[in-house]
Amino acid sequence: MATEDIKLTDGMHLMVDALKKNGVETIFGVVGIPVTDLARHAQESGIRYIGFRHEQSAGNAAAISGYITKKPGICLTVSAPGFLNGLTALACATINGFPMIQISGSSDRNIIDLAQGDYEGLDQMNIAKPFAKAAYRINRPEDIAVGVARAIRTALSGRPGGVYLDITTAMLSTTMDADAAQKSLFTPVEPAPAQIPSATSVERAMHILAEAKKPLIIIGKGAAYSQADELVKEFVEKSGIPYLPMSMAKGLLPDDHKLCAASARGFVLGGADTVMLIGARLNWLLTHGKGKKWNPDARFIQLDIDAVEIDSNRPIAAPVVGDIGSSLGLMLEKLKNAPLQPCKEWLESIDKIKEGNSAKMAAKLNSTSSPMNYFNALKAISDVLENHKDIYVVNEGANTLDDARNVINMYHPRRRLDCGTWGVMGIGMGYSIAAAVSGKRPVVAIEGDSAFGFSGMEIETICRYKLPVTIVVFNNNGIYRGTDKNLSGSSDPSPTTLTIGARYDKMIEAFGGTAFNATTPEELHEAVNKGILSGKPTLVNCVIDPAVGAESGHIGNLNPKSTINNNHA
Ligand code: ADP
Ligand code: MG
Repeated sequence: MATEDIKLTDGMHLMVDALKKNGVETIFGVVGIPVTDLARHAQESGIRYIGFRHEQSAGNAAAISGYITKKPGICLTVSAPGFLNGLTALACATINGFPMIQISGSSDRNIIDLAQGDYEGLDQMNIAKPFAKAAYRINRPEDIAVGVARAIRTALSGRPGGVYLDITTAMLSTTMDADAAQKSLFTPVEPAPAQIPSATSVERAMHILAEAKKPLIIIGKGAAYSQADELVKEFVEKSGIPYLPMSMAKGLLPDDHKLCAASARGFVLGGADTVMLIGARLNWLLTHGKGKKWNPDARFIQLDIDAVEIDSNRPIAAPVVGDIGSSLGLMLEKLKNAPLQPCKEWLESIDKIKEGNSAKMAAKLNSTSSPMNYFNALKAISDVLENHKDIYVVNEGANTLDDARNVINMYHPRRRLDCGTWGVMGIGMGYSIAAAVSGKRPVVAIEGDSAFGFSGMEIETICRYKLPVTIVVFNNNGIYRGTDKNLSGSSDPSPTTLTIGARYDKMIEAFGGTAFNATTPEELHEAVNKGILSGKPTLVNCVIDPAVGAESGHIGNLNPKSTINNNHA
């Protein structure tokens, strides 16, 4: 064959082919040098490209898309600053255990390695390493297939996480024989294989459960991620053990389930003599399993895919290392042959506490305070959501997060998406976009006014792609509250104060979305209902009393206060 007859492809096209071959349906990104054409070709090939206004939101979208679909979410960024903007989301995905791949263009290696000053020059792969599960670079088109397969397997296997995949400018435009290129493509076999726990570990765990008088199950987002939904439900119901859902595990079993102990949280943590963790870490969100909240003598069973997690904070009497589906499947077999003694008294005492706490909560929710506070506003939203139980709820903020988690019941798995393991702000719009695009359902985003600001510009993205997202901004004029004073006496606002009386609803009008300003629960109810039913981008400015809101929400204990010369109450 004459050389002119050889059909050529290049790194850019082959990269798209490799992603398609691996079932990638969507890329979330921001284009620019050197990845603009890559995005064009991806779109041309049938991959959906969602273009953002900031890489952090694109990265957050990819991360949560990974959580929702159990396939790595793909984020595409430009070199140096774009790469760094996306890196926060990659780190967050890794911390949360969400499978994600950040693919970033990078500049000329020869110039970077000699620090000769390239356009957007940065040693990206090495910078990404501590923030990712792994970082790889593809230097030649013939390595694309392997590079993509490795990224996918690394993101999905074991505890999922974020993978950085560097694609150099030179590689993107290097050509190779198109036939050889096609032949090089493959999909990894079983990228997230089942991990079967040892029979001994299962027996040990069941033995400890059988001895428990006051057992408690804590279900985390690892359980939600694993999609072993039926097994989790069956295990809870067959064992008859009360459970606490962690924030993003809400809805794995419906929140109104009779064994749900969420409204008696303090009581069950303090009282349980045996705690079985299913895909939940004993990190700060559970005060590390220590301190006054916990029974110091409680014994722990922990189901986790990652052996390194065991004993991380408190000794674990019965580790069950495996994937949740396999582990619970084996435990259920044992349970069927040897049912547990029902813990009737324990359940009755929990029910009493639940009743008392529910009555207190009902009083707060039915408050008639005007302007609205968090509770009567959340009640209005919750009433609407009771008629739309299967849609996504995205939630961030301080009080807006903590109170909404307690007020808004979830009924389906993986529908509540929030600040997660780091308690990070800025996930709101990225998560909403991915929930609508990858989750293919309407979204209600319940946002603190400060939290919304981190990704607020993405309402343009939401409008541009005409996504069914209703955003409610809980506007109390500030971070935590809007009433702080500047201690210097100057006319600058205090560090926690935002624009007084801001009209966030006006922002979405600029992009053709629907705007509401709600000052009463009735107005809020109507606005949210209309937003959901319309299926169109909607933003509700929800006016909250600026004086309500605790500093740092429910985690004020983590917020150090100066103890000397403190004029600030
Ligand atoms: P939460 O914040 O809801 O408590 P965490 O993120 O702290 O949840 O914990 C999730 C845990 O679930 C992690 O330790 C992770 O290793 C584990 N995990 C993730 N996927 C699986 C799976 N498929 N099977 C078993 N464990 C898993
Ligand atoms: Mg606020």
